[in-house]
Amino acid sequence: MNLEQKNQKIYSPVPAVYLHIPFCRHICPFCSFAVRRDRVELHEKYILGMLDEIARRAAWMKEKKQINRDLKLSGHKFLESIYFGGGTPSSLTIPEVELLLSQVRNCFPCSDQVEISFEMNPEDVNPEYLSGLAEIGVNRLSLGGQSFQTLTLKKLGRIHSGLELRKAVKAIANSAIENWNLDLMFGIPEQSIAMFKNDVEEALSYNPSHISLYGLEIHEKTPFGKNKQIRKWDTEHQQQFEEMYLWANARLIQARLFQYEVSNFSLKTKEGRNNLLVWSGNEYLGFGVGAHSYLSQTRWGNKRSLNTYLKDLEHNSWPVDFEEQLQVNEQAAESLMLALRQPKGVNIEQWQKRFGLQWKKQQLDLVEELCTAGRAFRKGQHLCLTAKGMLLADRITVELMPESHIK
Ligand code: SF4
Repeated sequence: MNLEQKNQKIYSPVPAVYLHIPFCRHICPFCSFAVRRDRVELHEKYILGMLDEIARRAAWMKEKKQINRDLKLSGHKFLESIYFGGGTPSSLTIPEVELLLSQVRNCFPCSDQVEISFEMNPEDVNPEYLSGLAEIGVNRLSLGGQSFQTLTLKKLGRIHSGLELRKAVKAIANSAIENWNLDLMFGIPEQSIAMFKNDVEEALSYNPSHISLYGLEIHEKTPFGKNKQIRKWDTEHQQQFEEMYLWANARLIQARLFQYEVSNFSLKTKEGRNNLLVWSGNEYLGFGVGAHSYLSQTRWGNKRSLNTYLKDLEHNSWPVDFEEQLQVNEQAAESLMLALRQPKGVNIEQWQKRFGLQWKKQQLDLVEELCTAGRAFRKGQHLCLTAKGMLLADRITVELMPESHIK
């Protein structure tokens, strides 16, 4: 925020902005994100497209606010979080990242303490690149490590080795960016419990401020989803995945990384800002292919094809694939799911009052069942899930929605 912005009382309409960089050197066989094989010659066109989308959306927001003076914005005055996700943001050069960052800063007044988070793949990490990121203001990194074992990484179709990951982690630990996350994955074909435990222990030995723990998800349309053997392995090992998650959950907490969401553990005050804002129901804008936005109870998602995205922008249209106004039942389900995925759980009375809902015998019985099975517990007005319950958070949400509200 500069003096001019302070004097003119220019506020950012949303507290969080997401920038999607779809390029990846190699497409992993389990990936369901909006990604495409990286070709350097596409960068310029794509970045120009994103710059245009950011500027036009900012102007649109300004106009919308002027037309509708009552427009309820999220109450945040400045941008608190800028998140570069993908795909692989680290496939961009530093000047390319800087162009995007400057555009966001010019269009959305930033808080002095804005968190600028940047996803990287291990093969792109080197001291020069890290210094470049720090110089342009990036202050949080998220490293897609997944495992320190080369064979496990090969199974997963990743192109980095365990050795490269170790080098990357050490370079980050020695860089000026102190706040960093390491992604670890469990439930990978042929990954034993012992192998996973070694990954967690090795990750902890580097003292990251944040660890994200993801179970491998098999999506139908991906090569893994079409592979019978992998699907069979996945179905047959659910018990083992639960054991891995529960063990890691306890181990990370013991190592002073507190859990603030099903998959996310961090040192106190080092939670991912983008995560916190989005999961508390704040509004956000997403730019780039496949990026999602949420504003005035409306969610929209951009087109996933890079060509269509760019063509729409060229024709002065929004590159939007779908737009939905969330109905009360959908808002209720979403708020319940977000709350149950966090250890603080849901304040049942407030939630029911807010959405005009009342749990009946069916939902109350389920709560009792979950408590008896050690998957949930009640703390005053709150219903909280235990680690064992968190694994089923999304399914439990559906079952706790009064029937007439399930679509
Ligand atoms: S590197 Fe990440 S985003 Fe890219 S294909 Fe692999 S899993 Fe997907």
